[in-house]
Amino acid sequence: MIDLSIDGGIATISFHVADRPMNVLNDGSIAAFEAAARKVMTDPAIKGAIITSSRPEFVVGADLETLRGITDPAKAMAVSGRLSYLFREIEKSGKPFVAAINGSALGGGYEICLACHYRIAADNPRTQIGLPEVTLGLLPGAGGTQRLPRMIGLKNALPMLIDGRKIGVGKAKELGMVDEVVPAGELMSRARQWLGVEGAANVVKPWDKKGFRLPGGNVQSPPSWQLFMGAAAALRGKTAGIYPAPAAIMESVYDGCHVDIDAGLKIENRQFARLAVSPEAQNMIRTLFFAIGDANKLVGRPAGVAAQTYRKIGVLGAGMMGAGIAHVAAEAGLEVVLIDQTKAAAEKGKGYSASLLDKQVKQGRLSPDKRDAILGRITPTETYDLLGDADIVIEAVFEDRVVKEQVTRAAEKRLPATALFASNTSTLPITGLAETSQRPANFVGLHFFSPVDRMPLVEVIRGRKTSEETIARAMDFVKAIRKTPIVVNDGRAFYTSRVFGTYVYEGMALLNDGVNPSLIERAGTNAGMPVGPLALMDEISLELMHKVMRQTEADLGSAYRPQPQDPVLVKMVEGLGRLGRKSDGGFYDYATDGSKRLWPELATHFPRLREQPSLEEVKKRLMYIQSIEASRCLEEKIVNARDADVGSILGWGFPAALGGVVSQVDTIGIARFVAECDQLAQLYGARFMPPQNLRDRAARGETLRAA
Ligand code: NAD
Repeated sequence: MIDLSIDGGIATISFHVADRPMNVLNDGSIAAFEAAARKVMTDPAIKGAIITSSRPEFVVGADLETLRGITDPAKAMAVSGRLSYLFREIEKSGKPFVAAINGSALGGGYEICLACHYRIAADNPRTQIGLPEVTLGLLPGAGGTQRLPRMIGLKNALPMLIDGRKIGVGKAKELGMVDEVVPAGELMSRARQWLGVEGAANVVKPWDKKGFRLPGGNVQSPPSWQLFMGAAAALRGKTAGIYPAPAAIMESVYDGCHVDIDAGLKIENRQFARLAVSPEAQNMIRTLFFAIGDANKLVGRPAGVAAQTYRKIGVLGAGMMGAGIAHVAAEAGLEVVLIDQTKAAAEKGKGYSASLLDKQVKQGRLSPDKRDAILGRITPTETYDLLGDADIVIEAVFEDRVVKEQVTRAAEKRLPATALFASNTSTLPITGLAETSQRPANFVGLHFFSPVDRMPLVEVIRGRKTSEETIARAMDFVKAIRKTPIVVNDGRAFYTSRVFGTYVYEGMALLNDGVNPSLIERAGTNAGMPVGPLALMDEISLELMHKVMRQTEADLGSAYRPQPQDPVLVKMVEGLGRLGRKSDGGFYDYATDGSKRLWPELATHFPRLREQPSLEEVKKRLMYIQSIEASRCLEEKIVNARDADVGSILGWGFPAALGGVVSQVDTIGIARFVAECDQLAQLYGARFMPPQNLRDRAARGETLRAA
């Protein structure tokens, strides 16, 4: 895990944690590092040490396996304390340590660098430097919250810690997070030289010298006060009060910088342990790191199917979705045939890609050559002639069964017999669409989200006749275009739209019940949802949902059961002509400058209860309804629990602190959740009735995650 070599009194400690995909800090590597560091500190023949790595990265952080499922704060304190106090020993050892940062140094990896007496980075454009612990609900627990502000000042350190930003070596040098940047080939020789020439004079850290002051002013200075006040005020907006890590980081910095570093490290250690065992961090580690990681690694991909590589794809329909799909595929290196009814329409779709790439070139994030290469891979056309050697075709034409059938037939005439055919339909069942296909086993749903270039999720939808081989190959495709797949069985609205819809509908039901719309919206964002339900409904368009409602009514006839949101849709669309954002406003009025305010007339048309429910009650209705619908999806085997959590966070921005729609139930406690839903059902209707699988699991004391 660690190589230790000694040459001319200089030790080189080099990380290569061979049994993990990248260098991480875990029991094994920490023990090996500790042994090497102790040898340096105790062997009188060793004058100083270089810490580096023999892999492309330096060290990318703690192995989260160590923290997964941890519930005992004392254990969490021991985990981070071991590293933290070792780093402090290194810092005070009287021998110089220099970090030779060959590649990315993140989290605990960068905390090693902080403990060193000097930091030299190789000029490597792929290197990322930062303390991103906050993004998993944690804080840097091995000195990061104490050394960074003491080294670069509060003003620069706080945003790095609270936002968890990762930066390149150039920016790191500018901020003082590394001391020097040298060409990669000179990294080791320069480290050696520093140890020989400057090392001995730099073994005492500034904060271990008398009269130390933080660069830019101590915590008590007026500018620092202002800084903390500003940061505290911004915190609420950033965290909706449901993410504890940023506040814990601020406390750790604030309290820790009032005292000496040894006391500061103890404060940090306690804060770390408090966070590590919190449901928020455990949820974020489980879903954001492990579940999304597993989904990206295609864990769950049907076995026994050879992995498919993709070279060429066809996209039918160059509208909003088709253009986006063509763009991400070309970016990922695939050849794209982009087909629309006319060449001009297809070219317009390619133009979308050009505008996205031009923006990147303008911002200096992409070279003009690369832009041209990506665009060169998209061929706009109005014919199907180029599909003869395509590996997959994705259909994104109008949401109209007849049009979809036409293009399916036309494409299949040209496609190789083995190619996949995927539909990006948002509402039409895949099983039905596959009926037109000559090879329904190769027919699959690939449900993208808008805007395609920014949304990471793709639902892979299994129709009744879709083969397991097709599912496996479709997952390979999603991976090839660098998106995250979840696998979903065919069913009304599939998975994400079905569950997400309940949030929006409940918002309208609340309005119909006489709840103040500003309370409804506040409850949504307060619970951690990105946008309130009424604002979302305006974006989706009331007109569209009204159409869906009338269509379903017509399809089901007397079997149609009116929904609580129906009267709101009817009144808004038929009575008041309020169709949504794109058509002069819906629940909101929109000004030309992009600002919006709730439509004042809502009060007239939806009379308000004299006594309004509490914020907590409204939040509960908006959030619980989503988990109830997700449990129904689990019961109907539409989706598995892991993908349900992943889909909720990546698909519609369900708060990560809750771990996803399924994990929310376990966070509350399944028995309590069932009892509360029973109460809600009594008050507001049968839609809150917990499904049987929840009751059974509650009775058996099982989690819903294990479903
Ligand atoms: P859009 O109207 O922007 O684009 C549809 C495109 O298909 C148009 O460019 C049209 O000219 C083209 N087209 C129509 N008939 C054609 C034919 N016979 N041959 C070739 N091209 C034809 O629609 P969109 O928003 O991109 O949606 C496309 C599909 O994706 C729909 O099925 C929709 O339900 C689904 N979808 C949309 C979203 C979304 O947020 N808009 C999200 C997921 C899925």
